[in-house]
Amino acid sequence: MEQCKEMMMRNYELYRCQNKAWKDGYCKRHHPDAKAVREKASNERWKEKRRQSPEYRLSVALKRIVALENRIAELEEGGEAALRVRREVLEKRIAEALTDRLASDSLSEKGGE
Ligand SMILES: [Zn+2]
Repeated sequence: MEQCKEMMMRNYELYRCQNKAWKDGYCKRHHPDAKAVREKASNERWKEKRRQSPEYRLSVALKRIVALENRIAELEEGGEAALRVRREVLEKRIAEALTDRLASDSLSEKGGE
């Protein structure tokens, strides 16, 4: 029986996958096509999780507020300068929320998956 040629690491030691080769010298788990499918599914789950996160939803909401403020500024005469200041404050908050999120993401990614 042909053995899968994938090399794996356990306790800092390399060992060869014990599964039977299925196609191109790889088992069903380690074939590049199967890996690509799993990776894509994993990315989709990660993106969906991110879309559900309070930080992401907050940033979407803040961007929408900025867009609406800009629209109001376009429609109104006079108060544009004041609205521009408020827009800058909101944009700063978005940047801070995203920076915080990225910082906590890079921390959790080091320990995760
Ligand atoms: Zn394998």
